Amino acid sequence: MTTADTRTEIDAAAEAAALDATDPLGPLRAEFIGAETSLVYFDGNSLGRPLHRSAERLQRFVHEQWGERLIRGWDESWMDLPFEIGDALGRAVIGAAPGQTVIGDSTTVLLYKLIRAAFDAQHAADPGRIEIVVDTDNFPTDRYLVEGIAAERGGRVRWIEVDRSSGVTADALRAAVGPQTAVVVLSQIAYRSGFLADAPTLTRIAQDAGALILWDLCHSAGSVEIESDAWGFDLAVGCTYKYLNGGPGSPAFAYVAQRHQAALAQPIQGWMGAADVFAMGPEYAPAPGMRRFLSGTPPIVGMLALQDTVELIERTGIAAIREKSIALTEFAIRRADALLAPLGVTIASPRTAAERGGHITLQHPSMRAVTARLWTRDVIPDYRDPGGLRIGLSPLSTSFAETLTGMLAVRDALVAEGADPTG
Ligand SMILES: *Cc1c(COP(=O)(O)O)cnc(C)c1O
Repeated sequence: MTTADTRTEIDAAAEAAALDATDPLGPLRAEFIGAETSLVYFDGNSLGRPLHRSAERLQRFVHEQWGERLIRGWDESWMDLPFEIGDALGRAVIGAAPGQTVIGDSTTVLLYKLIRAAFDAQHAADPGRIEIVVDTDNFPTDRYLVEGIAAERGGRVRWIEVDRSSGVTADALRAAVGPQTAVVVLSQIAYRSGFLADAPTLTRIAQDAGALILWDLCHSAGSVEIESDAWGFDLAVGCTYKYLNGGPGSPAFAYVAQRHQAALAQPIQGWMGAADVFAMGPEYAPAPGMRRFLSGTPPIVGMLALQDTVELIERTGIAAIREKSIALTEFAIRRADALLAPLGVTIASPRTAAERGGHITLQHPSMRAVTARLWTRDVIPDYRDPGGLRIGLSPLSTSFAETLTGMLAVRDALVAEGADPTG
């Protein structure tokens, strides 16, 4: 290491310290379990850290709710919980007025239910609408579901080819939609590149073509501004275990714009979605409103923890969270340029903040081995084939000093894997 390298590192440490000292969200980090350790967590975009408050909430629930109320809990509060938490999430996180957001099944199952409901409604109204539009770099579950639904319903998939270090643009969507389009399925933030789609514009393009659009908000809920109502979304689904810190496998949320609810029939007709749940009637009639999008008994225990992050986001404001998120990714990009570019690493994410979400992907052929090495040293990014190291910077729980420590560890791991510092 040269004197110039040492100076750069000292400057970076001073910059991180200054950014942490003036960060209005800095004190929130202490509210997360594990934040006091030296572990570097770069995967809050995949499984967020738990809040101390959530540990207390879960404990309290077992003793006071489950333990004391037993089956009475369903009547007293649990039946309404998917809608109450849905409304709170709608207000704090996705810009949705009450009565349009529910906590339901896994993301995959909710995506299936809503994409199929939307396809069927569109196809019934206009038999020429047989295509589901999706991009080639969307998350696997989204692509697999779309292929399955198209096969099941006699439709077809219209693929948008995208650059893996970017995402779906307005021009690309305009070229793909038309009178044959039933539904468009897009991710607001691409899971690989972190590309932030222009959701209001793309929504308008899909709707101008007569299509319905479903937004996958898995990587955007809790990291960027979302205005589901104001941007005219038709449908949306998102994870709660990523930036919303709901815990492993916590159930997803679904948003269905009020104007569509009565016309959509989802395919998993279960008793919890029926008009009168306890009538135990001879045949299924869907409930009015969001209840019709439920199927079976709601996963109450799984939806407890996410309430604490929804409350935290409401108190903090998504604008401040987004500002910190941008500062974190910019800081990481500057470190990547200084420390990793000389080792042959490229940034497979947008450099323009307005086109980037809360994570960046660093590209190098050795990244699989680098990730394995980092995990043994308590530096936790994740790896996405081919050669992509994802640096997820959850704005509520990540500090600038932590980010710097992690980026230096990536550099050291690359050198240990034989990456050539002379380029
Ligand atoms: C994480 C993620 C999912 C996950 O779906 P699960 O059913 O929760 O496994 C789906 N879509 C996107 C875009 C994701 O990022």
